[in-house]
Parts: sequence; structure tokens; C-alpha cells
Amino acid sequence: MKITISAIKADIGSIGGHLCPSKKLVEAVSEVVKKSSIILDHKIFHTGDDITILMSHDKGENYPEIHRLAWDAFQRGTEVAKEQGLYGAGQDLLKDSFSGNIKGSGPAVAEIEFEERPAEPFLLFMADKTNPGAYNLPFYLAFADPFHNSGLILVPKISQGYKFIIMDMDFKGEGDKVIELETPNDIYNIACLLRDTERFGISEVYSKSGHKCLSLSTTRLHNISGTYTGKDDPIALVRVQKDFPATGEILSPFSISHYVAGFMRGSHVGPLMPVRVNTPVSYFDGPPIVSGVALCVHNGKFTEEVDVFDHPYWDYIRDKASAKAEEIRKQGFFGSAMLGMNELEYTGITEKLEELDKRFIIKEK
Ligand SMILES: [Mg+2]
Repeated sequence: MKITISAIKADIGSIGGHLCPSKKLVEAVSEVVKKSSIILDHKIFHTGDDITILMSHDKGENYPEIHRLAWDAFQRGTEVAKEQGLYGAGQDLLKDSFSGNIKGSGPAVAEIEFEERPAEPFLLFMADKTNPGAYNLPFYLAFADPFHNSGLILVPKISQGYKFIIMDMDFKGEGDKVIELETPNDIYNIACLLRDTERFGISEVYSKSGHKCLSLSTTRLHNISGTYTGKDDPIALVRVQKDFPATGEILSPFSISHYVAGFMRGSHVGPLMPVRVNTPVSYFDGPPIVSGVALCVHNGKFTEEVDVFDHPYWDYIRDKASAKAEEIRKQGFFGSAMLGMNELEYTGITEKLEELDKRFIIKEK
């Protein structure tokens, strides 16, 4: 059976600042999705201030009515957010009306259409207070590095490598500017691009037999709105096992808690902390967090989810991430603790610098 799993995420309002959505808001979104007859199944999660709608259906990727369903659910949620006086009500809905595809309207989208395998396990990752480039390191390592993916050594089909689709997120023309690069031959070219997490992001990964196993919401909101509107908090869907990396191989690189862009006002650098699902945001509007669930799907019906970072091992990683967050916060806004000016040009600092520039004088030697 050919099915599509679609994950669509938006921040449409939260309690007490950018912490987490209200129960009433999550319920309002859920009510709209529940009533739909075009989906086979659905689940709703939140991570930080973002709500993710996970759906299964047989309509294919980019199907307008599926995207409209998410749009309508987020619109209804926004009404409730306004009724409750939540902060940032409707924040990620950047267009006035739905235009056939929710991509480019603010919400993050990850979708994979596939022929169901007899066992069809997959993962959904939801990150908050960071941007799509946050996934560059963990997914590069999970698909291309035998330190994390032992299947590259042990499983002949996995040893063939994978095809990475990498997007230039700075491209402002119509459509998406992408490049296809294959491991192992292009491994250094892939590394060369992915190190620039502000500009380049993985958007898809395919096995050498042509099966899509990773879909990532790779867009930059400031390219849509022209101003700072949040941090493009990214989601990802990953099919796992058999010809794809094992679940544990995908999770392995998240133990690094690598430093990513985001944190307070989306303008700083902090460690990506793996957290339990439905975890709110706290310290310095962060630290950047990622949650994950593992499920199986059969005939379009989801099993219950397993919270992949709800395990004693990850408590130890969270402690280390807290220490990393504390360490970089000690230097406040200086140097690498805050993003470079090219990333801050969408904030109010530009006006401040323009004002200051007028006050500079040239002193004679
Ligand atoms: Mg968010």
C-alpha cells in the first residue's frame, strides 16, 4: 500500500512568552484534524512553543487538501490563542490566506510517500529555538559516518551509501535551489556545504535504490517575511531499519548536543539538547531543544509512539548539554556566543548600527 506521512508544524501562540502552547490551543488544533475524512490517521505533539500535526494519508506529497487541513487547524488554533491572549498568536502563519501549498506560508513541512514495507518504522524529530541547519551534523553523521552508522561497515546495501539533496537556503528566486550529492564519493563536498548551517541544509536523503528515507523542513522564514519572525524551528521524518540506518544509528549523533544557532531571540548559539516530547522551553528562551518519537505505520494506521529521548542515558546527555549551555552563556553576546551580523540583519540591531555610524568621526592623523 502506498501511503504518505506528512508532518506539519507551526508556532501559533504560547503561554508565558515562547514557552509552550496551552492545552486549549492544542485541543483546538486537534479538533479540526480529527474531523477530517481525507486522512487515515493522525497524532499531535508539541515541543517548546511549536505544535506538530503528524498525518498519514494516500494522497501523495504536497497534496493541497492535506496542507489546507493543517492550515485550517492552525487558523482555528490561532483564534483560540487570541481568545486566551497567548503570546505570538498566529506567529508562523505569514500569509493571509491558503494558496494551495502550505510551504512558503510559514509552517514547517516534512513529507515522505512510500510503498509500505511489511514493517514500517520511522522517526519524527521536532526541534525548537533553532533552525534547519541544526540537523546538518546529526544527519550527516547518521548517514555517512561509520562511527555512528555501523551499517556502513556491516550491511552491504547500506555500504552503497546515500544520496543527499542539499538546499541553498539563501536562494530568493522562485522554487528551491538544490544540489544532489552521493556518499561515499561526494562525502567531502557534502561536508563542505553542510558546515555552513545558516546557508545550506539537508532537505532529503534517498537510498541508492531510490527510496526516500529523510525529509526535512528546510526553509528560512526570514526569506519569506523579510524580517525576524522566529527561528524556522525544523522538523524531520526519517524511515529506519533494513536498507536505511537503524533507529539507534540515527539517534547516536544527537548525543553530541552540538552547538547550533537559535536560543534567545534566535540570535545566539547554544547546545541542541535532546528532550522528552512536549517539553517546554526555559533557560534564556532555550536551550535549543529537539524531541523525537518512533512509530510504526501499517495500512496508514500509526502505533502508539515511543519517546526516544525518554531514557536514563539521555538524562546524562541533558546534564552535559546544560553544562555546555552555561559555559557559552558566560560570554553573553561576545564573539561566537551570538550569531554573526549576516544573521542579525533581520533584527533591530541594524537600525542601531546605522544610527551609530552617523556618530563616527574621522580623526586626522
Ligand atoms: Mg518555536
